Amino acid sequence: MKIAVLSGKGGTGKTTVSTNLSFVNKDIVLIDCDVEEPNASIFLKPIKSEEEKVFVEYPVVVQEKCVLCGKCGEICKFNAIIPAKNTVLVFKESCHSCGGCQLVCPVGAIKYEKREIGKIVKGKTIFNNYMEYGLLNIGELSGVNIIKTLKNNVKDEKLVIIDSPPGTSCATVSAVEHSDFAIIVTEPTPFGLNDMKMVVEMLREMGMPFGVFVNKADLGDMEVYDYCREENIEILGEIPFDKDIANYYSKGEIFSKYIPHYKEVFENLLQAVLGGKNGN
Ligand code: SF4
Ligand code: SF4
Repeated sequence: MKIAVLSGKGGTGKTTVSTNLSFVNKDIVLIDCDVEEPNASIFLKPIKSEEEKVFVEYPVVVQEKCVLCGKCGEICKFNAIIPAKNTVLVFKESCHSCGGCQLVCPVGAIKYEKREIGKIVKGKTIFNNYMEYGLLNIGELSGVNIIKTLKNNVKDEKLVIIDSPPGTSCATVSAVEHSDFAIIVTEPTPFGLNDMKMVVEMLREMGMPFGVFVNKADLGDMEVYDYCREENIEILGEIPFDKDIANYYSKGEIFSKYIPHYKEVFENLLQAVLGGKNGN
């Protein structure tokens, strides 16, 4: 089973949920697909056993062959290849490696080369779970290829937690798609609700079952709860704002390890998901 953990925005508690779930079940394999800010390793402290470089392809124009017909520029949705007056410009960081420009080039003037965009680190956590996390190189615009590689690496594992990028970007969709269930982590504030609604919309469009986990449940107001009730979305669990949690978090520690009743919260959350509950 693949369980995606996501949130409308960063800093909502997504990694808290992913890493505490990992702690309560040794069979869980966690992949941190939040490749711009992969924080799960801070808490799970994997011992690196392997590193995998991730590459993408980008077009290179053989200028001697090019007849400056402009077709490559017309097909590219990302403005990554732009025919100018005397040459064709390629912006490789914007390229999504779709292959379209090569297909339409009438004279075979486009070839592809590879470049490294980041890496994947693999290893066992201090709790003996296996995990991998992706790391996008600074300046790169898209980590989608790293996310796809991470997912492919664990495709045969029985129980996978996917710590997804926040929001509803291409990277989030890539991380979440083909999961069996999604847990939306939110805070009970107007901002939290607003961001969460966009994620709900995205998951419904994807046809994915999901439920909600509320972080800092005693701060803010009741709007998240009212919305979930109106929309028939199940609240799978919650944790309050607690100074002890904040204290362990600031030290990079899994608080469920030290506070038994929180361990129970995450055991129940996992049970609720594995039991096939969903609130959409
Ligand atoms: S491969 Fe696709 S995204 Fe990249 S430059 Fe060509 S058309 Fe644009
Ligand atoms: S499609 Fe080919 S020939 Fe036409 S401008 Fe692009 S690279 Fe040159």
